[in-house]
Amino acid sequence: MHADLIINMDTILTMDKDLRQLDDHQIVVKDGRIIDLCPQEEKRWTASKTLDGTDCIAIPGLINTHSHLPMSYFRGLADDLPLDIWLREYIWPMEAKTLNSSVIHDAALHGAAEMLKNGITMTHDMYFEMPAIADACTKAGLRALIGEAIISARLAEGQKPGDQLRILRQEYRDNPLVDFNLSPHSIYACLRSDLETSVEVAQELDLLLHIHLSETKEEVQTCLNKRGMRPVQYLKELGMLEIPLLIAHGIWMDESEMDLLVGTRASIASCTDSNLKLASGIAPLKGWTDKGINFAIATDGVASNNDLDILAELGNTARLHKAINEDPSFLPAAEALKHVTINAARALGVEESRGSLEIGKDADICILDHNSLCCQPLYNPYSHIVYAMNGRNVRDVVVGGKIVVQGGKLTQVDEAELIAKAKHYGKRILKELSQ
Ligand SMILES: [Zn+2]
Repeated sequence: MHADLIINMDTILTMDKDLRQLDDHQIVVKDGRIIDLCPQEEKRWTASKTLDGTDCIAIPGLINTHSHLPMSYFRGLADDLPLDIWLREYIWPMEAKTLNSSVIHDAALHGAAEMLKNGITMTHDMYFEMPAIADACTKAGLRALIGEAIISARLAEGQKPGDQLRILRQEYRDNPLVDFNLSPHSIYACLRSDLETSVEVAQELDLLLHIHLSETKEEVQTCLNKRGMRPVQYLKELGMLEIPLLIAHGIWMDESEMDLLVGTRASIASCTDSNLKLASGIAPLKGWTDKGINFAIATDGVASNNDLDILAELGNTARLHKAINEDPSFLPAAEALKHVTINAARALGVEESRGSLEIGKDADICILDHNSLCCQPLYNPYSHIVYAMNGRNVRDVVVGGKIVVQGGKLTQVDEAELIAKAKHYGKRILKELSQ
């Protein structure tokens, strides 16, 4: 029998419901999907292409549930500030002064390439100029669910949330890599009427809604002062707990708010590095775990992270939450890995096709090299992935059956060109800001 691609692996961590580990097996790919996972010795298949996974571990392609791809060129431009000042005095004015659709395209391409090199095969982005982001992700070979960012003050006269989205869903309907949803930025940057319209559009089109929430204590206090209720209660009043919802951050959620989320289709994207650097706080991962609320671990944008190394983020998150809960058994390695694979897929509503390596699912695969000083000896692959590895261990990445990173090198875009462009834009942004 003939396939498109065979990957011969020493170790496969399927991340399926039984967390099966398959040793000396092959992943067989045809038409972008996994069609077999079988012992190498059976030699059932021939293929047009073969990858050798000796000394490597295959895991599902990592899924990043909260990002802002076009912020690549703002990396390191405004550090060591609290979120409110960072956003209102630096990020939003910088965006207004320096960004247009061609800069957004190039910055998003840079971010997409960086994500792939870190083993991420799908991201959930929130930004403006969606076609520019969609084209960049398509070029790099990254899957993306791209949210139309809604900030009420930036809506044009007569423009309503979802106007752009409807057109783009039609235009890109044959593109298997990208899809679009709606991302009201936050409850503080959106008028109540725009949040209500967003819920109506999400209901009508059966979309996942994506919103920043409870990222700072001040945001919660403002909501209490203005609305007389806590942020999750406000979401409930708006009808957001009746639709699929992805809450970014959720740091200052209290127990009564967590109880409101139980049994809903809401998930949370926790962005440890960004939250630590902005000193926004530490999210209640233990509370979410105890109540069975689905959450994922995500990078956020590089203006606040400042990298897209989701494996490093995973290790930092596991360590931090063991320490603050004074419980080293909290978030064990295999459990932690679920939050960037199958649980992340669930958060985005794509767990039927992604998030684990199983027959019939999309061939989105991350291959990690353990043949190095920092990864030997190897007793437990989950342990190494969470506690010893980072993005530099990513050797090959496959998205929809296509090899987009091979031997640590991007196959679809020229990395040197991306670096040269970033240098060029960096100089231009500094000049524009000084005027
Ligand atoms: Zn964000």
